[in-house]
Amino acid sequence: MPANPLHKLMIGAMPLMPRALTWRFSRRYIAGTHLDDAYRAVRELNEVGCTGTIDVLGEDITNQDQVNTALQLYRETLDGIQDNALQCGISVKLSELGLRFDVDGCESAMRALMSSARQHENFVRIDMEDSSVTSVTLDIYRELRRDFDQVGAVIQSCLHRSAQDVADLMAEGPTDIRLCKGIYIEPEDIAFTDADDIRDSFSELLDQLLEGGARVGIATHDPVLVERAEASIKRLGIEKDQYEFQMLLGVTERLRKRLVADGHSLRVYVPFGELWYQYSMRRLRENPNIAGHIIKNLFVRN
Ligand SMILES: Cc1cc2nc3c(=O)[nH]c(=O)nc-3n(C[C@H](O)[C@H](O)[C@H](O)COP(=O)(O)OP(=O)(O)OC[C@H]3O[C@@H](n4cnc5c(N)ncnc54)[C@H](O)[C@@H]3O)c2cc1C
Repeated sequence: MPANPLHKLMIGAMPLMPRALTWRFSRRYIAGTHLDDAYRAVRELNEVGCTGTIDVLGEDITNQDQVNTALQLYRETLDGIQDNALQCGISVKLSELGLRFDVDGCESAMRALMSSARQHENFVRIDMEDSSVTSVTLDIYRELRRDFDQVGAVIQSCLHRSAQDVADLMAEGPTDIRLCKGIYIEPEDIAFTDADDIRDSFSELLDQLLEGGARVGIATHDPVLVERAEASIKRLGIEKDQYEFQMLLGVTERLRKRLVADGHSLRVYVPFGELWYQYSMRRLRENPNIAGHIIKNLFVRN
């Protein structure tokens, strides 16, 4: 979707704002700066019938020390999830484990993380980043799932390639996919840019995944897509253990509650960490239209 000029202007002005003010915008979407903040957020979600997935904020790191630090923090996260008896997995960006400067090292770090997750009987979702790393991210997912059951990937419905990726992944073995629209602004030759096309692609991919027997995280707050997903689940007679809805912390809480009340499983993405400021600014730069949600959130709770 093209960026709204007003939102672009707002993003341009954000670095001039005091951090405390930026925190006011961001805190609804971020559990806090420390692991305990994330545990608290997940505990509250568990109490209202949702599961969680914790994201340690950080990406595009540039050296091995940072990889080791991220890995250590993710291991602590897995320990804490178990110690606190939380219903919660983790979500990881491969660029946080060195993808952009050492692909083999990144895969080794992921293997180390997967071993910890296996010991904890927990699940690791590999987030999807921009299209420059789609292929390598899916390749690492392929390698990992040969040796580990509890790993999943993400498919973005905005990309033209996604139907083929889904077909290939499902042909190769058991597949666990989070399906989302995709947050990165991508060029027209590789991605749909029209909102309706992205929606239609999402619904087609969802049916493709469900019919093919994949386990699916339906990650959207779009009421039209939620309604279509509910219709597909009913029409195809999909069992509860084959899918869950997924939403971001602080977004469309009313829709979230409605889905839980209707008996659907629902997982909430819970980001936390010292790097919240960089994360928020980067997200906004990547897709200035998010600024529209932020402005709206100052006034409206949906
Ligand atoms: C659990 C989860 C994991 C994700 N993981 C990835 C990933 O790995 N890679 C990736 O590229 N993208 C990821 N995304 C982001 C996703 O690609 C979309 O950018 C995002 O979900 C917005 O799309 P939407 O389907 O909710 O539809 P939209 O049309 O953007 O939103 C529908 C409605 O939801 C509400 N809404 C949506 N976002 C917000 C917000 N931030 N604040 C307030 N209201 C909002 C608004 O009411 C809006 O009208 C993830 C999303 C979720 C929910």
